[in-house]
Amino acid sequence: MSRITHLTILGSTGSIGASTLDVVARHPDRYHVLALTAHSRDETLFEQCIRFKPRYAVLLDEAAAARLAQKIAAANLEVQVLCGAEALEMVSSLPEVDAVMAAIVGAAGLRPTLAAARAGKKILLANKETLVMAGQIFMDVVRRHNATLLPIDSEHNAIFQALPHDYCSGNHSGDFSASGVRRILLTASGGPFRNTPLSELQRVTPEQACAHPNWVMGRKISVDSSTMMNKGLEVIEAHWLFNAPIDAIQVVVHPQSVIHSLVQYVDGSVLAQLGNPDMRTPIAHALAYPERIEAGVEPLDLLKVATLNFMAPDIARFPCLELAYQALRAGGTAPAVLNAANEVAVAAFLDKRISFPGIPRVIENVLAALPVKNVNALDDVLNADAAARAAACEAIHFLAPQSSFLAPR
Ligand code: NAD
Ligand code: MG
Repeated sequence: MSRITHLTILGSTGSIGASTLDVVARHPDRYHVLALTAHSRDETLFEQCIRFKPRYAVLLDEAAAARLAQKIAAANLEVQVLCGAEALEMVSSLPEVDAVMAAIVGAAGLRPTLAAARAGKKILLANKETLVMAGQIFMDVVRRHNATLLPIDSEHNAIFQALPHDYCSGNHSGDFSASGVRRILLTASGGPFRNTPLSELQRVTPEQACAHPNWVMGRKISVDSSTMMNKGLEVIEAHWLFNAPIDAIQVVVHPQSVIHSLVQYVDGSVLAQLGNPDMRTPIAHALAYPERIEAGVEPLDLLKVATLNFMAPDIARFPCLELAYQALRAGGTAPAVLNAANEVAVAAFLDKRISFPGIPRVIENVLAALPVKNVNALDDVLNADAAARAAACEAIHFLAPQSSFLAPR
């Protein structure tokens, strides 16, 4: 290893952010945290500042930033506290930053991740919403500015590892069929409601939706996993990351989450990446790539796992998956509309304003209401995002009486 890697961690107080800091803390000789960022959790960010002594700490929220600045001053720490969305872009593109962990949740991650790409950074991409909203634009910027893209999403990290080693090397996606790849098999756990009787889905609570059987994650992605919208977003993510035709991406339900995804080749070979479901594995892989470092993850014991099961996704149970395929096929602004409608619908479900089956209903309504437009520039994406959010709020208002939240009896 030649020199220390200077990191910006976007979304450091979240689930991926915390796992990243856990891996980083195991290798103080390899990694230095230059900037940490969060939305408004100043307490957690302050603790991270004490431990990792970054040069910058950014909070989106002004009041939270003021509180953090006070604590930093009282503790005599040499950390510069910044505030607002522009500061997120600034710390993603600083000349001294080598790599940016893009782990903000949702559409809010788009601009700082794009800023990192424009600055030609090594991007460790957890924020799949960037590729869902603006896949073509983002991949073009990555190529034009010679940025390096390494997937953190466990499935995409697994696919990256199972593809030919030079497939994604540097900054360009390879030629899918010329590489001898037939299909990408994207595994999905099926989430907490895989076996819940359909008649009971109307009553499931946010707490139940967030209790994922295998992974501990933030609330938004946990709900996305329970509706399988997460897998839908991941299909779109795989399409852009790996230059994969839509029909060559197949979702396979695999409840144990031990196989994190597979690549099927034309000669009949199928390569998979396996491991315990712990995000520190893909994080360590991307941080050290092409080297390997200790991640603190318990070694996989296949004898303990004993059984691996596979099944087709149940489309009637998980309409969000089909909606995502539809949006990807429609192209243009449709995936950005899908993403925004989903964010608003998931927030409404978490607030108990709509029921669980209300989530796909809202998204379907919004997709039907808004015409698909071409994407020529980032503004086309941002306008579609704003229009979809407004339409989703309207749909929630309209659907609320028939889709209201019913507590379990
Ligand atoms: P989380 O909710 O636990 O954390 C989100 C982070 O983003 C927090 O630090 C929060 O402060 C910050 N944030 C939220 N809104 C913001 C805003 N408007 N501006 C600036 N910062 C903001 O989420 P997570 O589970 O860590 O997921 C982060 C991203 O990684 C998501 O895109 C998710 O899809 C992806 N991902 C997560 C996992 C996982 O296991 N958690 C796995 C694969 C992919
Ligand atoms: Mg995933």
